[in-house]
Amino acid sequence: MQSGNLTDTGQELLYYRGRVALFHILKALDIETGDQVATQAFTCSAVPEGIIASGARPLYIDIKAGQVNMDPDDLARKIGPQTKAIIVQHTFGIPAEMNEIARIASNQNLPIIEDCCHVSSTQYDGKSLGTFGIAAFYSHEWGKPIPCGLGGSLSVSNSKLLSALSRQYNSTSPPPKIKDIRQQLQYVAFSALYRPAFFWHLRNAFQLLSRKGLAEGNYHQIDESVGPSSEFAMRMSSMAAKRLAKKRLAIDGIASHSQALGEIYKSRLSNSSFSMVAEPTLSATAYSRFPIWSDDKSRALAFAKSRNAELADWYSTPIHPFKDKELEQIRYMTGTCPNAELACNRILSLPTHAKTSPKEAERIASTLQTFT
Ligand SMILES: *Cc1c(COP(=O)(O)O)cnc(C)c1O
Repeated sequence: MQSGNLTDTGQELLYYRGRVALFHILKALDIETGDQVATQAFTCSAVPEGIIASGARPLYIDIKAGQVNMDPDDLARKIGPQTKAIIVQHTFGIPAEMNEIARIASNQNLPIIEDCCHVSSTQYDGKSLGTFGIAAFYSHEWGKPIPCGLGGSLSVSNSKLLSALSRQYNSTSPPPKIKDIRQQLQYVAFSALYRPAFFWHLRNAFQLLSRKGLAEGNYHQIDESVGPSSEFAMRMSSMAAKRLAKKRLAIDGIASHSQALGEIYKSRLSNSSFSMVAEPTLSATAYSRFPIWSDDKSRALAFAKSRNAELADWYSTPIHPFKDKELEQIRYMTGTCPNAELACNRILSLPTHAKTSPKEAERIASTLQTFT
């Protein structure tokens, strides 16, 4: 049985992807066509994909200047009578300003859904992320802190929402066998091959394979005239659920490792051409990746690549990886979230996952220290 686990954050349900879990939360909240769901720009296309599949429209909120999470002031400014829910993303595992956002949400009587796709285990003001809203969702895709191939989960503490979700869950089914086996092979290959020194090679290989349809990519074109993909009716396969359960046994180690690497990057890069991203003082962050700010992002990337140091560029657009016309299709209007647009041209991120040893983190940091 893959559903029905009682966790410390509430009841849990397992889905094919994180965006599928989000879609089910919105459905269970009775979100309807024409409703708006607030979500931050400086995110990936998975989030608006889940919103649009539910029939609603994303309302993009800017991030705080020089940071990576939602600006509460911009949220208060932009929400209106059509707004029916607020998705709060904890980018890179760094907590959003939950106290302020919760105040705004409760004034307007709006439910908060936490996007915990980058969260392993982070405390904010004495409470775990994932316990502030009516529900939280997670992704267990390759690049996330607790991966199992592809996968998503949600936790819910509200009993009315839980019964709606359980009813919906009964009409989901596992992915077709062939999809599941391909995913498992991808997972095994990735786990065996991946290490930071191979980052640039694997990145090229994965992009090539998913373009050729040989690997499950993460980004879909959004075409509202076609309607939501059949993936939105899929739960997690039992094989993926087993891998997830096993992976979760290591969650405390994963969180403390990523915290420790964050400390290495902070101390080694404090006197460099990169600057650090501000975080709420109330938090103890386990980073899914460690963000740094550069005034010359493209040159920094080329520098890291030439020295074989892992450095990622996302999010490179306000709704990664969409550009130009595709941004309009998911209803992002250029100019509406200037801080997010600037961050796309400035933010880079360093690895904090289990395959990055403290020694490798030191090497990456000392390489980047020499970048001027
Ligand atoms: C990965 C991710 C998701 C969902 O990803 P899936 O591929 O659907 O599992 C949602 N939000 C954020 C911020 C993410 O990074």
